[in-house]
Amino acid sequence: MTGPLDSGWAHDAVAAAAPAVTASALDAADPLARLRDRFLRPTGPNGESVLAYLDGNSLGRPLAETPVRLAEFVAGPWGERLIRAWDEEWMDEPTAVGDRLGELVLGAAPGQTIVADSTSVLLYKLLRAALDAQAAAGEGRNEIVVDRDNFPTDRFIVEGIAAERGARLVWIESDPAAGVRPSDVAAAAGPRTAVVLLSHVAYRSGFLAEAAAITQTAQDAGALMLWDLCHSAGAVPVELDAWGADLAVGCTYKYLNGGPGAPAFAYVRSDLQARLQQPIWGWMGAADPFGMTHAYEPSANVRRFITGTPPILAMQPLKHMLELIAEAGMDAVRAKSVQLTERAIALHDELLAPLGVELASPRDPAERGSHITVNHPRFREVTALLWERGVIPDFRPPHGLRIGLSPLSTSFAELQEGIEAIRDALRELA
Ligand SMILES: *Cc1c(COP(=O)(O)O)cnc(C)c1O
Repeated sequence: MTGPLDSGWAHDAVAAAAPAVTASALDAADPLARLRDRFLRPTGPNGESVLAYLDGNSLGRPLAETPVRLAEFVAGPWGERLIRAWDEEWMDEPTAVGDRLGELVLGAAPGQTIVADSTSVLLYKLLRAALDAQAAAGEGRNEIVVDRDNFPTDRFIVEGIAAERGARLVWIESDPAAGVRPSDVAAAAGPRTAVVLLSHVAYRSGFLAEAAAITQTAQDAGALMLWDLCHSAGAVPVELDAWGADLAVGCTYKYLNGGPGAPAFAYVRSDLQARLQQPIWGWMGAADPFGMTHAYEPSANVRRFITGTPPILAMQPLKHMLELIAEAGMDAVRAKSVQLTERAIALHDELLAPLGVELASPRDPAERGSHITVNHPRFREVTALLWERGVIPDFRPPHGLRIGLSPLSTSFAELQEGIEAIRDALRELA
């Protein structure tokens, strides 16, 4: 897969930023526009009740085919094959879906990715496994490096593990309107570092970290690098194998449209798997789940990171979305994402900045994921008003309004409508 700079988005991004180009012209020229119809958009007597959905980075829209395909799943594999379906296909689903995700979205060769649990739980398992493996190496590595502005669950999980294992936390204080840079990691990581945990795309600012350089920096210090990909998987190209990443986790209900509470994924590089023992021993991660053995012996491969019965039903919409991503291609997804965020910033500059709104995201698209955050003291009230009107961004305290742009389901017209609605609400409250 080519990197974002090779895929020719720079020219289109310039067009998207020019105020003279209309939203409908951008939609007409968008090669992915035809795929927008593949998403479910319920309509009532007055048309669509959602005018602008700008929160696909928190919960992606369902696919239009999902209701039918879920009904087929209930009637077929579940209703008719019943328990036999475990042998026929379900036992392999956590790794089969993981491999497909790895191939299409994560830049990961087969045998390194599972789909299971939630991001929080997988993060716990991988962090604990990494910390314990480093402790066993006997070099006195008991520090976890993490950034202060990381997503709450990431910070809470490391705090819990530190309390449980007597590990020390080393906090990186990064610029909240940007994110963590390789130099920050170089300054924080050292001979005591066991693991570095960072988000690839910052959930607040949308800052896109230099993953390959940071991974190298962490490993040069002797640490294991664990990436949280929640805000990048499905929107930003990820190259876990090429980065040389050790570990990664991420969720599938954001840009992967898996549905509320859809299971998460974990990546563990092949050569590390035998060294790592995760802390939640369960029969489904055992070498022989149906041997009903007395003692726990972990699977020899990536299945060892599974614990209990895999959430097969909850994986189905993700499988459908992966087919759509295969059809679109991640390079095209990234190109559209860049165009959308460039356009969002241009509209901010034109319509919102004159009202006192400030951009809290990077202006350089090479440093940005698929959402932007804008700040204004009235945004809590603005967001409440917008939700009533069918315009749906989200609010993150203290006064950030996040505009999430799901590349496959968001149109330029929807974005335009959304930003105009923010401007109108601000004027009304003034
Ligand atoms: C959304 C998100 C999570 C969510 O974790 P869950 O266990 O699925 O609730 C974790 N980390 C980051 C960075 C996120 O953006």
